Amino acid sequence: MTEIQKKMFAEMQDKTIFNKALQYGSEYIDASLDRNIYPTEIALEDLNYFDEVMPIESSNALDVIEGLNKYGSPATVSQIGGRYFGFVNGSVVPAGLAAKLIGTFWDQNTAMYVISPIAAKLENVVEQWLKSIFNLPPQTVAGFVSGTSTANLCGLASARFRLLKNQGWDINQKGFLNAPPIRIIAGKDAHSSVIKTIGLLGFGCDNIQFIDTDEQGRIKTELIPELDNTTLLILAAGNVNSGSFDNFSEICKKAKEAGAWVHIDGAFGLWAAAVKELSHLTNGMEDANSWAVDGHKTLNTPSDCGIVMCNDKDAITSALHTSGGYLILSDDRDGMFYTPEMSRRARIIELWATLKYLGTSGIDQMVLGLHLRAKQFASELSAIEGFTILNDVVFNQVIVCCATDDITNEVIQLIQKERVCWVGGSTWKDKKVIRISVCSWATTEQDVLRSVQSFKSALLKFKN
Ligand SMILES: *Cc1c(COP(=O)(O)O)cnc(C)c1O
Repeated sequence: MTEIQKKMFAEMQDKTIFNKALQYGSEYIDASLDRNIYPTEIALEDLNYFDEVMPIESSNALDVIEGLNKYGSPATVSQIGGRYFGFVNGSVVPAGLAAKLIGTFWDQNTAMYVISPIAAKLENVVEQWLKSIFNLPPQTVAGFVSGTSTANLCGLASARFRLLKNQGWDINQKGFLNAPPIRIIAGKDAHSSVIKTIGLLGFGCDNIQFIDTDEQGRIKTELIPELDNTTLLILAAGNVNSGSFDNFSEICKKAKEAGAWVHIDGAFGLWAAAVKELSHLTNGMEDANSWAVDGHKTLNTPSDCGIVMCNDKDAITSALHTSGGYLILSDDRDGMFYTPEMSRRARIIELWATLKYLGTSGIDQMVLGLHLRAKQFASELSAIEGFTILNDVVFNQVIVCCATDDITNEVIQLIQKERVCWVGGSTWKDKKVIRISVCSWATTEQDVLRSVQSFKSALLKFKN
């Protein structure tokens, strides 16, 4: 045995580092439910601890863990509490977090059934659950990826395969050179990850036909041109700024009749379908062909959890197919056919646990709660002179501005500096805005009030 082997066997047996990790994790939960949301200046300076040249000698394992906890933990952004409203980032459902911990010890690779029967089983079960939650056609299949960026890539790659196949062209074999044309249609407000994917897949962003959007960011339905079976139409369930939804019931039906492929980017918004009071927003989306959604936003799974769903199994598995003599395919589920990767961590464990724990009634309550807190945020802020709400708060997003772009910018800086909550900026219809995303199950009415107070004092400081 080598020295390093002996040392590692000893650590496996001794378990001090694992117990310490668990203890530090528990302490982190206690602290982060009510700490400064963004790291303090001191915590950021202390990150110098990590500046060193690659060590030559093997370290003491406990020292590695202690150092990581001491200097890493304070420099995290606390997203598991109730006052982080940046981007669209969820907290964690406790049962999902605990399941991830068990999954960490299992360290499964989900490429094929023979590498991890448990992961294949959970992927199959969750695929069925998702179909029923989102009311999707029975032939729909799901792939479990890192986030909606990758889910969009998988959905659009499936579309590329099918739309060219419709014209007798195999993109995998023949590539794009001399390929028959495909028309790509998207709203002007399409998410940047969709645009990036169009570039990655070789369509060329200049070939996107952008359709004007209304004041909420919804595609203007009447401007969509005649569709056919060479058209890819990209829609949004949840505009990343305003949270608005495209008019699926009208558009998807028409597209289906024409044989066009509809992909819906529903990173956070698709979950509206699971809420009685909000499901009107996604009416008709079941007529699309592919859907991208995150677990780590609205559903509050641990981060690194996205899902692609596709009603055309042949298209998605052909688009993402891998082959090699050494592969052992089973009659059961081989997850790699539904994702770009071969090796993947088993993120399905925490997704399964989160869904199992919440049940449909828990999801309904949790997601409706995000909506209600967003409504509260908007109503509290609109009562303060100097803040204007710019969107209809149909889901969990609120867009706010001050009298001028300069004031808005300054107020964002002051709010971030106070660290009571965290919000980011964006531009909306050529205006600088503050963007609020209520995405944590832990956000209470009190959290909203405290955060609104921070908005108010930021504006006051600016005036003085
Ligand atoms: C967050 C988001 C994405 C990207 O998802 P990731 O999980 O961050 O990869 C795509 N579209 C919309 C609308 C989003 O909100």
